Amino acid sequence: MPVKNRFAELLPEITEWRRDLHENPEILFETHRTSALVADKLKEFGCDEVVTGLGRTGVVGIIKGKTDTNGRTIGLRADMDALPIHEETGVPYASKTPGAMHACGHDGHTAMLLGAAKYLAETRNFDGTVAVIFQPAEEGGGGGKEMVDDGIMDRFKIDEVYGMHNWPGRPVGSFSIRPGAFFAAADQFDIYLTGRGGHAAKPQDTVDTTVMGAHVVLALQSIASRNADPVKQVVVSVTSFTTGSNAHNVIPETVHLKGTVRTMDPDIQDMAEKRLTEIAEGTAAMMGGVAKVDYRRGYPVMVNSEEQTDFAAEVARSVSGGCDDAPLVMGGEDFAFMLNARPGAYILVGNGDTANVHHPKYNFNDEAIPAGCSWWAEIVERRLPAA
Ligand SMILES: [Zn+2]
Ligand SMILES: [Zn+2]
Repeated sequence: MPVKNRFAELLPEITEWRRDLHENPEILFETHRTSALVADKLKEFGCDEVVTGLGRTGVVGIIKGKTDTNGRTIGLRADMDALPIHEETGVPYASKTPGAMHACGHDGHTAMLLGAAKYLAETRNFDGTVAVIFQPAEEGGGGGKEMVDDGIMDRFKIDEVYGMHNWPGRPVGSFSIRPGAFFAAADQFDIYLTGRGGHAAKPQDTVDTTVMGAHVVLALQSIASRNADPVKQVVVSVTSFTTGSNAHNVIPETVHLKGTVRTMDPDIQDMAEKRLTEIAEGTAAMMGGVAKVDYRRGYPVMVNSEEQTDFAAEVARSVSGGCDDAPLVMGGEDFAFMLNARPGAYILVGNGDTANVHHPKYNFNDEAIPAGCSWWAEIVERRLPAA
């Protein structure tokens, strides 16, 4: 495998960082020890600038190439946070914090990007600037969004961004990617229906929210069947239906519906939110009641840019001899916010035959480190070829 020789030399050191991070997991924005460790290492490597406190506990390191003839900057991003899971791997460097573990391999992502930063800072064999971005709170906290909101793209004049995630079940160190929509948008909604409660034997005196709710549930299915382009993905699921009464002889005054919407296309997501609100309000009005809709967007669809995806795949092929077409992933990914701010690409690197991510027996595979680090370094050296 034509990984960079320097990463074979650095492997013991990078593995040591990875296992230290693994032993000391921190959740969401509480990555204080991890962020301090990352910032210390970046300074030790000789980064030209190290900025902390971006997106609360995020860190950015700036590495300038030997030359900078056209002012281009590439952003490379890793996530640093762990999960609220109690570790069951039994490895000697298992989590020292009960109820927290690196069960998604972000310890590996952080260590690999540190390894690439060390190499890039010592060689600087590129024309332009690299921003290494370490974000907290990928696991549901929106740390990537907070870093973008803190202005990292403009402040560091980042032109394009790249991200990577390990993938259990793929051969270790092998890559896969897809252009366009890759990870799904996962939204949540609550619909509160209000009518007029009363005696179940006297419906004429009530506005029945149970019947209203049933109509809403059925009508919402027309978003997928009648409003969406049939070749595009949209799932609208009502997952909870509770009424304000549990008696046999009372028509409830209120009904509360909960559910989720999954989409792979920002236009379909916009349409689904709009239609869900119109259908709930319109159906309630038709029945003489009122609907209040609370629609909350989670992470947006993560969309890989075409050009950068082709380039990322070409680099992956040069590192590991191949790059497969990845399937759509219905999970969400916070890197979506960075890809909405700048063009770029997100790639998967094989973690071998391990437990799946978010499982108490999962562990990042250190054998993926040379391929992962080489991919980062090659992205920079090929995208910003030395003048
Ligand atoms: Zn995860
Ligand atoms: Zn993850």
